[in-house]
Amino acid sequence: MEYAIEFGSQVTLPVAQSAKRFPVGRIYCVGRNYAEHAREMGHDPDREPPFFFMKPADAIVSDGATIPYPQVTKDLHHEIEMVVAMGKGGADIPVEKALEHVFGYGVGLDMTRRDIQGEAKKMGRPWEMGKAFDNSAPCTELKPVSMVGHPAKGAIWLKVNGKIVQQGDLSELIWNVPETIAYLSKLVTLRPGDLIYSGTPAGVGPVNRGDKLEGHVDGVGDLTIVYAK
Ligand code: MN
Repeated sequence: MEYAIEFGSQVTLPVAQSAKRFPVGRIYCVGRNYAEHAREMGHDPDREPPFFFMKPADAIVSDGATIPYPQVTKDLHHEIEMVVAMGKGGADIPVEKALEHVFGYGVGLDMTRRDIQGEAKKMGRPWEMGKAFDNSAPCTELKPVSMVGHPAKGAIWLKVNGKIVQQGDLSELIWNVPETIAYLSKLVTLRPGDLIYSGTPAGVGPVNRGDKLEGHVDGVGDLTIVYAK
């Protein structure tokens, strides 16, 4: 097939210990999925239904990259998250079957232009320009379920310039991975290749030019991203 214009290629992520790559479809993100983070954002962490927003697939940035500080913001924030990669799609997936749809897991950052997001919240406008911008979705290689199983507990943390700023445990997720998949698949038909950023623990905060971000999820991996000076 020939396109009428010059067009970018399929976005992919590496797969651990494999020459094959994972094609990235849509990127869904869960909002406020750790109680302490909900509190720090000024919300009651009572178990309200999960809610979702999206990023474009080409917001993906590879582990180890140096990326430019994004446009317009003066308050870029880090959110370290475990990323769930869907191997099989489906709608109305039952909780008990949800994990059968997972290909593997990665470590990601839901980078956020907090000032733009805050303004959108105040005005009752969409969040996209606070969340879905260029280079806003760094992610490591994916570890298939055959290597890591389904991580449900274990440390998740982020260091900025060598200092721990975010720290939590996967067991503290308000909506765990199977529940999140089940809920999201009631709202949209999930497809193979979709990623789900599962939410961030407390400690979100500013990122400046020249900062080095190092994230970790037990059993899943380590992510390093540097912001250009
Ligand atoms: Mn997030």
